[in-house]
Amino acid sequence: MKKTDIILCAAILAGAAVWLLFLSIKTSDNLTAHIYIKGDLHASVDTSNTAELYDTGTNLVQIESGGVYMLFSTCRSQDCIRMGKITRPGQMIVCLPNRVIVMLDGAGEAQYDAVAG
Ligand SMILES: [Zn+2]
Repeated sequence: MKKTDIILCAAILAGAAVWLLFLSIKTSDNLTAHIYIKGDLHASVDTSNTAELYDTGTNLVQIESGGVYMLFSTCRSQDCIRMGKITRPGQMIVCLPNRVIVMLDGAGEAQYDAVAG
């Protein structure tokens, strides 16, 4: 095998590995974060291809690949901060004093349940 052939092979393998990684990320992180403030839906953010901070005015919601958590809150109890990161459809973070709700949904649950049986 010539040196150029080896380099070409390595490049193709590396490309395939990246592509597989990309596919697995796409299928496992199909989550949408819905942010409600005082009962109204203010934002729906796809978590799979973003990393952003959403400011509700009272709370800072960190949205990142595969999960969402409350980064900051003005509430006295700080219960919403203690709930930590939610990563599965149907899970939610509630800040009662500030009336902020962050909810996850997506196709991830159906896929996960199909695999788990
Ligand atoms: Zn709170």
